[in-house]
Amino acid sequence: MNEYVTEGIVLHVRNDRESDRSVDVLTRRLGRLDVKVTGGRKPLSKLSPHLDVLNLVRLRLIEKNRFTVVDALGAGKPAGLASPEAMARALVAVNVLRALLPKGAPDPEIWHYLIQGFRSGSWRIGDILRILGYAPEEAACVQCGGRNVAAFGLRGHEFFCARCSAKAPQNEMVYL
Ligand SMILES: [Zn+2]
Repeated sequence: MNEYVTEGIVLHVRNDRESDRSVDVLTRRLGRLDVKVTGGRKPLSKLSPHLDVLNLVRLRLIEKNRFTVVDALGAGKPAGLASPEAMARALVAVNVLRALLPKGAPDPEIWHYLIQGFRSGSWRIGDILRILGYAPEEAACVQCGGRNVAAFGLRGHEFFCARCSAKAPQNEMVYL
């Protein structure tokens, strides 16, 4: 049984069976992980308030069959996400991260970028895509080949120009 202490950014929270929760968290040391919060749905869970989407948390984890949270201490929502606009942009960024980031592999470059952006609220979808290997400036629209891309499809991991993106399913589309 291994124990780890690491900072993490909460990407998604899901209710499991019985009273447990699973948290999709990007950690500094271990990369993106799916961690279990035993009893996380109980009203008096002391861990749950810290494990909210886009919180920056300090986690103590044990690894048996899977990672389980034994302690979580959160600094709450970062100041950079105080405005509704910054929060809305950050939630789009979370969708991009969840679609593209592999699990279990530390990525210092994306971690550093996200932590810096937490202070200023300046996460940019184009920057995140570039760090994850999808550079918009080198891309062409998957439909028409146009070089002026305006959107990225989360399902197919492909770029679209403004005209073609408007005809594609909007729930899979993030705009640059
Ligand atoms: Zn096009």
